Amino acid sequence: MCLKRLDIQGFKSFADRIKLELNPGLTVVVGPNGSGKSNISDAISWCLGEQRASFLRGSRMEDVIFAGSDKRKPVGMAEVTLTLDNANKLFPLPYEEISVSRRLYRSGESEYLINKVPCRLKDIQALFMDTGLGRGAYSLIGQGKVDEILSSRPEERRSVIEEAAGIVKYRHRKEEAERKLTAAQQDLNRISDIIHELA
Ligand code: ATP
Repeated sequence: MCLKRLDIQGFKSFADRIKLELNPGLTVVVGPNGSGKSNISDAISWCLGEQRASFLRGSRMEDVIFAGSDKRKPVGMAEVTLTLDNANKLFPLPYEEISVSRRLYRSGESEYLINKVPCRLKDIQALFMDTGLGRGAYSLIGQGKVDEILSSRPEERRSVIEEAAGIVKYRHRKEEAERKLTAAQQDLNRISDIIHELA
């Protein structure tokens, strides 16, 4: 899997639409302090479903929408689209390319899309689970992250290894199945009570 393209509009310092084509090999973004380099990695995390404004260096999620500058008025919507290569069918979808988009309006309304079709945040999270791009995964290593991993507790470090091993989705499915079993058991108990009352 590789990230082929990044389209950003109205996100943080990027008021106008920008398109970043990422060719095979190493891509390095250079620029003066405050020119928006970290905003690019924030855009990737955000599009992958990041829900913590603090992780995106803001205090509220609305802080990701371009807030205006000396020369430009604020905009009403932020939008980021990631286009990933799916030639090796890592994602279980019958497409050569997968695009994932996230939009946020100042009203607070937000939208997620996979290949331009509206979907839920849950679908995006499920798509990226175990690919290394899931929440807190190892594909995005921020400043201080290496130290954090090395000094974290063994259970926390284990989650990075589990994502790399591709077992996170099975853990989630197991938890979901356990929740359903508990709910079913509660229904059975309730039915048994009713039968007991009627008997
Ligand atoms: P450094 O090299 O110092 O780490 P950088 O190139 O990574 O800097 P960023 O942190 O990505 O820079 O960008 C910071 C810039 O983004 C600041 O000028 C800030 O004003 C601008 N910025 C952040 N959020 C918004 C927003 N919502 N609207 C407009 N500009 C924003």
